[in-house]
Amino acid sequence: MTSRGYDPIVLAAATEKVVVDGTRRKYVQLGRPLRFYGGTTSATEVGCNLRCKFCFSDKPVWKPKKTGKFYSPQEVFDGLARSARKHGHKIISASASEGTIGREHLMQLLDLVEDSEFVYVLETNGMILGNDPNYVSALSKYNRLHVRVSIKGDNPEQYHELTGADQDSYELPYIALKNLIAAEVSCNACLMASFSDDDGIQKVKQKLYDIHPGILKSLEIEKITLFPKVVQRLAENKLHPSKVRKISRK
Ligand code: SF4
Repeated sequence: MTSRGYDPIVLAAATEKVVVDGTRRKYVQLGRPLRFYGGTTSATEVGCNLRCKFCFSDKPVWKPKKTGKFYSPQEVFDGLARSARKHGHKIISASASEGTIGREHLMQLLDLVEDSEFVYVLETNGMILGNDPNYVSALSKYNRLHVRVSIKGDNPEQYHELTGADQDSYELPYIALKNLIAAEVSCNACLMASFSDDDGIQKVKQKLYDIHPGILKSLEIEKITLFPKVVQRLAENKLHPSKVRKISRK
């Protein structure tokens, strides 16, 4: 018997009611420098439709009501642009939650990016995009957008164990990638592989190859970072990662 869990699409709708107000979305901060992609400026958004037990983000995911403030797309763009120009970054993004929640907010933000010198990396777990091909089509008009789709685990059972979500939704990020590639939206896949063995990683590679062989070139194999909150949550859930990333002191 397959275990049932929550539906990430239903959770997305419920979360949207908390973190989206018209075209405004909740954020914790609007621009800090990170080392990813050789230097990027990232905002911390609030609200996710998964509850990954290994997630480094804490209050933005688990306490969205009590976390962050609402900002308009213009305010978010201005915050990101200010920090990115100060640090000489070309890439801007938002992280620590799900980037596709609040479609109108995101589209207006991308309109502003389109007229700028920046490239926006949309960080997503692929659930909403996999469920809504129209959303993917709407993104295809942007040239200064790159979508990074993160796959949580190497099979539906492991995904359910790691996230608590219904196993059926495991396929959604793959569907998102297929539709993004068909719509010619710049994208890549990332596999959270801290709980995977070589065989599991190989199976994900085969699934991706079947969608589009070229996507393997940009596949990222991600390992979790053992921040204290993550260690606590994993211990509570009796989860034991085999591959982890050390906390950088830089
Ligand atoms: S999808 Fe990302 S932000 Fe959301 S809970 Fe999972 S790891 Fe955290």
